[in-house]
Amino acid sequence: MQVQLGDKNMQSAIELQKKIAGIDRKTYGAYKILMGDYQFNNFTLFIDHVQSDPFAPPSRMRVRVPQQLAGFPGRLYQTRPARVAVEDFLTRCFGAVACGYCGKKGTGKSGLITIDRCGQEILERTAMVVNDEFVEARFSVGLPARGRTITAGAAGDILLEYIPGIVRQALFYKSVDPNKLKTRVELAEDQTALRNMLHTMGLVAFVADGSVLPRESGGSELPLQGPGVVGFKSPPEYRVKVNLPHRGEITGMGIPRGITLIVGGGYHGKSTLLRAIERGVYNHVPGDGREFVITLPDAVKIRAEDGRSVAGVDISGFINNLPFGRDTVNFSTSNASGSTSQAANIIEALEIGAPLLLLDEDTSATNFMIRDARMQRLVAKEKEPITPFIDRARDLLDNFNTSTILVVGGSGDYFEVADQVILMENYSPRDVTARAKQISASNPSGRVKEVPGRLGGIRERIPLPESFRLESRDKVKARGMDDIQLGRRNIELQFVEQLVDPGQTAALALIIKYAAQKYINGKATLNQVVQAVLQDLEKEGLDIISAYKGRHPGDYALPRKYEIAAAINRLRGLKVQQA
Ligand code: ADP
Ligand code: MG
Repeated sequence: MQVQLGDKNMQSAIELQKKIAGIDRKTYGAYKILMGDYQFNNFTLFIDHVQSDPFAPPSRMRVRVPQQLAGFPGRLYQTRPARVAVEDFLTRCFGAVACGYCGKKGTGKSGLITIDRCGQEILERTAMVVNDEFVEARFSVGLPARGRTITAGAAGDILLEYIPGIVRQALFYKSVDPNKLKTRVELAEDQTALRNMLHTMGLVAFVADGSVLPRESGGSELPLQGPGVVGFKSPPEYRVKVNLPHRGEITGMGIPRGITLIVGGGYHGKSTLLRAIERGVYNHVPGDGREFVITLPDAVKIRAEDGRSVAGVDISGFINNLPFGRDTVNFSTSNASGSTSQAANIIEALEIGAPLLLLDEDTSATNFMIRDARMQRLVAKEKEPITPFIDRARDLLDNFNTSTILVVGGSGDYFEVADQVILMENYSPRDVTARAKQISASNPSGRVKEVPGRLGGIRERIPLPESFRLESRDKVKARGMDDIQLGRRNIELQFVEQLVDPGQTAALALIIKYAAQKYINGKATLNQVVQAVLQDLEKEGLDIISAYKGRHPGDYALPRKYEIAAAINRLRGLKVQQA
């Protein structure tokens, strides 16, 4: 079969070889002449960017294999979740193979061959593109040098031998394990199908029997292993069967819509269960243990976040009568308290439409969660600005159709408002709803419901363009997973817990810039801005946020709309107008 590769003007691999030989022992800057496109036997190498010295961020390159040669069957990447799974799989293959070729070949980053790192979640990334035309990997190479002197021999090894080797082993259907790939695709399709089924089943989350929820450590997302691990077993009262397109029938605990309490003694696995549910908005890789812990895609974790900035949020449904008459209908602060931050987090999630909130007592402000009868007697309502969450959970459900899953080990007052109570005991769940209702009936808490009226509608906000103005010299970039710099303004994201990958943070920085250029016009609400941006990203791909059109775009992963809104909401100095 004859396949037309590239255009006539494209240089050949032989020409690349000559160029490399020609710059041996020259100073590092001479590497710049390598920029360009090169035709190899069965792929094209694009050298899009050449680093300025051996210590600088490595050079960016792409390899593109025509799909006719790569040979991935179309059915494997037809649906969006399937395509994302294939791209994720190939990114991991490329990374693993590259790792084998990667060795220190001189100063600084010399000899490095890397592609974006994938974690336990399967995310749409710019690192790999698979479509009917081609398979394209976007990766980085540390061009080798001794000191600042080019070592052409080593450069030749990398560009003319290693990279073709990696392409051969990682980007052709015949060289990857077809069963493994098929399993991945089917798993992703099943996970997505289950997530789409939840709503019609009246569920907000599903935890499959046999799931492994605990993680290896506080600093690792890998599953805990060993004899001490207790697999998940659903209580009969909540056991549901679901029929998945590939796997067929599985069983597990279906958490119905409404207000769900997870109770139990300390260290019995409550937070672990909630954390798995939080991450259930994403698909997971096989072997993760949480493959079938599936949550509504729009579930939002809510926590206290003192110190965060808040711009023009109507938190009056939760907070009123602040000292010195501070406005809570249009509440702004550069330093929120535990309770005001938690209230703002809830209202902001509702503003984007969250149908499910997830709260853990470990990360909540106590006074936001509960005010018991004795405290109600001591401190008059007029002197207490907070309407605790316990008195609003029902309103959220009735007025906004928003369910809640709450981890509460410390307050039985919540029994009164719960629709279901699940007890975690030695890492296993048990239904204790009837017992909890009985206890609350025979031991009245004596507290009075504190509701100075219904929780009103959400006052949408319009972000004002002035807060996003950037000078040409202003930097827009992410640092790790938690920080974004937007010119002279900062965004801190360490408490946005469903942000799971540094690539998402890197994307957020550019997404905000994109939104500012295209949609933030002083008229569109934050919700409209976020929806519009996400629609563009889903339709045209994540590449559109990059400044490098048609080149290596950088390493980005797609965040959800809630994280986009969360980032904008945390921009220090954000100005908004209530709609
Ligand atoms: P809680 O929130 O109830 O206080 P955690 O969820 O923090 O408890 O869990 C306490 C410890 O138990 C953690 O170290 C966690 O990794 C471990 N753990 C949780 N679930 C399991 C399980 N199913 N099997 C083994 N260990 C578990
Ligand atoms: Mg806990």
